[in-house]
Amino acid sequence: MIRLHVPQTLFPGAALAPTLDQSRYLTQVMRLKAGDLLLVFNGVDGEWRCVVAEVLKKGVILKAEDQVRPQTHGPDLELIVAVVKKARVETIVEKAAELGAKRVRLAITQRTNAERIRLDRLDAIAEEAAEQTGRLDVPVIDEPVKLEAILDTWEDGRRLMFCDETGGAPPVRALASPSPSGEGERKPWSILIGPEGGFSPEEGERLRALSFTTAVSLGPRILRADTAAIAAMTLWQAAVGDWDRGYDRD
Ligand code: SAH
Repeated sequence: MIRLHVPQTLFPGAALAPTLDQSRYLTQVMRLKAGDLLLVFNGVDGEWRCVVAEVLKKGVILKAEDQVRPQTHGPDLELIVAVVKKARVETIVEKAAELGAKRVRLAITQRTNAERIRLDRLDAIAEEAAEQTGRLDVPVIDEPVKLEAILDTWEDGRRLMFCDETGGAPPVRALASPSPSGEGERKPWSILIGPEGGFSPEEGERLRALSFTTAVSLGPRILRADTAAIAAMTLWQAAVGDWDRGYDRD
């Protein structure tokens, strides 16, 4: 069934007006007609069965019927990635949504080249990817911010998986610290990926010295930033992720 993300509140009988782009997708690509059903979520109210109530020139009107799944949230995983070329940033955002990141933060590092970032485009990519995966929330994408500022205002209790191309520990062993219940560590985590030019020696030194950092290697080959992001999120999931949760359920 088609899944659509909307900003509106969901309750029985709620009338929803998807954007023009979403309406075109529903009627022209997916060929939905009045009376057809689809699934809708807004990141708060769970997943709802909705019916296409009206097909108008200026868009479709949906009507919410009933909740089919309660709201669930994935792990508290952030991806912090240095701004790289536009196409790679777009791939990274899509894959982060698919691999369960809650937030993507774009970082400006010493070796970041200026790139124009279109946040509206990245938001749309994250939304479409979330719709496709079955998750019930959409990752938040943040404006580029200096890496130093991100580190200066670090949240208490959050761990950092620093992907260090100059060498680090194998991730699966380094991230999982055994707990008596055998559940792994349900802590907030961030993964950090550098730009194509890598981190500067000072940045690497500062990152390794932080008390909340675990420096990891992604293997003995240098990966592009997009490949590194996908590999890192997968390895994080393998070590401390939400495999035990079943399909997008708490
Ligand atoms: N210019 C650097 C490579 C940068 S690759 C060089 O040639 O040495 C971009 C980013 O991907 C890196 O900063 C790092 O965060 C991540 N990365 C790539 N390969 C990696 C690896 N084998 N281990 C850990 N991190 C890696």
